[in-house]
Amino acid sequence: TPRCIKATPIPLALYGGRHTVTMIPGVGIGPELMNYVTQIFNVIGAPVDFEVTQIDPKRHDNQELDYSLVSIKRNGVAIKGHVETRSTDTTVKLRNIAIRNELDLYVYVMICKSYPGVPAKHSGVDIVVIRQNTEGEYSMLEHSIAGKVVENLKIITKENTMRVARYAFEYAKKNKRKKITTVHKANIMKLSDGLFLKIAKQVARNYPDIEHNDIIVDNCCMQLVSKPQQFDILLTPNLYGTIVANVICGISGGPGLRSGKNYGEAFAVFEPGTRNKGIMIAGKNRANPIAMLNASVDMLHHLGHDHHARKIENAIYQTVTKDKVHTPDLGGSATTTEVISKIMDYL
Ligand code: ATP
Repeated sequence: TPRCIKATPIPLALYGGRHTVTMIPGVGIGPELMNYVTQIFNVIGAPVDFEVTQIDPKRHDNQELDYSLVSIKRNGVAIKGHVETRSTDTTVKLRNIAIRNELDLYVYVMICKSYPGVPAKHSGVDIVVIRQNTEGEYSMLEHSIAGKVVENLKIITKENTMRVARYAFEYAKKNKRKKITTVHKANIMKLSDGLFLKIAKQVARNYPDIEHNDIIVDNCCMQLVSKPQQFDILLTPNLYGTIVANVICGISGGPGLRSGKNYGEAFAVFEPGTRNKGIMIAGKNRANPIAMLNASVDMLHHLGHDHHARKIENAIYQTVTKDKVHTPDLGGSATTTEVISKIMDYL
């Protein structure tokens, strides 16, 4: 049975004109970057309060995960860093995936538009990745038979593919995008990826003004590193989505810039686009804070606080493109606090 929660959208937590949002700092660079989000929200007076929940990577149970899920269900919205799972106990759920699957966050959206002035392998990139976020190889149906054979079930359902494909075409219509390319490997996985492609084509027929074509995932990666400007929206199953999103970030400025949005019928979770931990750079004042700040901008737009979102967006743009205050991942020498301090000047 497809994991499709027929949830009625719940009203967002709103008390005295202020929204409450779940904040899961996670591991690595997550906590320090969340601190900057909180500081910036205070400076601009964004009407948002955070309910912070921690998930210790070393824990051998699901208690903190369950508490975080309850918190997101209560508030409707969350912002998160990377949540790690170190336990190998099979009853301990992979937290990042459990958050997506148990809240039925069936679609992931990453907008990847080049920042002028940021050194990158390619300029002029403007691609939106729309990825199925809850099934495929991430269905968590993996088992070993006597330690000799391992089976991992890749689940593609008509219902979930239909939802993500409709989301993509509606997104294109609303945002005046012209073309959707469905990414797949249906030449080999004829049934599973075949179904994904078939449904995408079926949905495309209802949107004659939007061009639809498809591409095999390996060729897609080759095209992305050679001529990424040819793509507009990429519609992908789960695994290919994370691969192409990472390739796109890699060729257009790295992992420190883009945010990712996870949506379901009832809940929304915002996070840095490539979901990295950044363990090696944690606490060293060199992480690029822009991806997390962009996640906070997405969240503010989602809550309807467009005015505050635009303030941060503008401060980021000025800092990154005009003043070129860049952390080492962008080839610069600025520290995280120098980037934040420049952003604060604009705010
Ligand atoms: P996985 O999630 O697959 O385990 P990972 O978490 O190990 O991957 P990371 O090592 O965290 O991946 O990130 C990949 C690379 O990107 C690292 O070199 C990391 O330092 C860098 N990176 C990630 N996020 C940022 C950031 N915000 N600023 C600067 N560098 C970053």
